[in-house]
Amino acid sequence: MKITKFYLLILLFFITGCSQDTAIPSATAEVYAMDTVMNLTAYGDNAQVAIDQAEADLLALEAQISRTREGSEIYLLNQTGTSTLSDTAVELLRRSINYGALTGGAFSCTIAPVMDVWGFTTDTMAVPSEAVLSQAMALVDDTGVVIDGNAVTLGAGQAIDLGGIGKGYAAQLVADIFTAQNISNAMVSLGGNVYVLGGRTDGDPWRIGVQDPNNLSGYAGVLSMYTGFAVTSGGYQRFFEENGVTYHHIIDPSTGYSANAGLLSVTIVSPDDGTLCDALSTALYVMGEEAAIAFWRSGVVPFEMILLTEDGRAVVSSGLHDTFIAEEGYIYDPIS
Ligand code: ADP
Ligand code: MG
Repeated sequence: MKITKFYLLILLFFITGCSQDTAIPSATAEVYAMDTVMNLTAYGDNAQVAIDQAEADLLALEAQISRTREGSEIYLLNQTGTSTLSDTAVELLRRSINYGALTGGAFSCTIAPVMDVWGFTTDTMAVPSEAVLSQAMALVDDTGVVIDGNAVTLGAGQAIDLGGIGKGYAAQLVADIFTAQNISNAMVSLGGNVYVLGGRTDGDPWRIGVQDPNNLSGYAGVLSMYTGFAVTSGGYQRFFEENGVTYHHIIDPSTGYSANAGLLSVTIVSPDDGTLCDALSTALYVMGEEAAIAFWRSGVVPFEMILLTEDGRAVVSSGLHDTFIAEEGYIYDPIS
């Protein structure tokens, strides 16, 4: 049995030029939190204050919602099955359950027991036996989570995993800090969860490379954006191989196995909702092209998307037709 573990931290990355205005004060930080590397750059008179606060708040958020962090709110909830959570944790839980309902169960924050039996939270990932998997699958049911104000109770044996939504919320937290500190331009990447603000200091938009899942050192296309959130999910981010089969960390809650719906990655873009981007990038990856397009067209929640398909297309929703340029190797497939 061969187990390969990869932590690919760059899912969306910045293509920087050299003409940035150096007259504006700037500050940067590299933070390791939520199991990923986070890079932050801000421009403005309060850049250092903003970056310092963002760093502190990111670490505090991790301490609150990471289910593997002993003593975190989610850790304690999972241990005891009932507890009173902070407003932040309750909001994330509510939004997770809501996205689960909207996506026909493609997103499920009660996926934790299944993640555990695959070993994705540990260093030893392996295919579970059918018996072990079906036991864990019986616990995946968002309707078992009862929320009453800030008091949360789980069904017997259930556990919560906010890994599919937490970094998007974190990006939003950073955005709010930057706004409060009058930051004029910024780029932030929290392990594939990108937030940009105000374009580059030379007036050009930020250029965000969408990683090519088939060639991880290259990109499949470039997204040009002044302000907004862009989040990518893909099975190539964390995976292992067993008996020649590749298994990855985005689980289809209807099967308990790695999602396998014909997509290489999903990038979700929103002007103002990073949390939405994170949850939907995971959910639409599970749903596959047809269901993802139907969901986008339904307009239930507003967002834009880029789907990279296994057959080599970049499916781009109408709001991004002018902002996403596909590289050679991907056939541009615009939808409206
Ligand atoms: P990453 O966290 O690697 O950037 P995602 O945002 O797609 O990627 O989140 C994947 C994480 O979400 C997994 O590591 C796991 O914690 C959790 N997860 C896996 N499958 C699902 C699912 N179907 N619904 C909700 N969360 C999921
Ligand atoms: Mg996600």
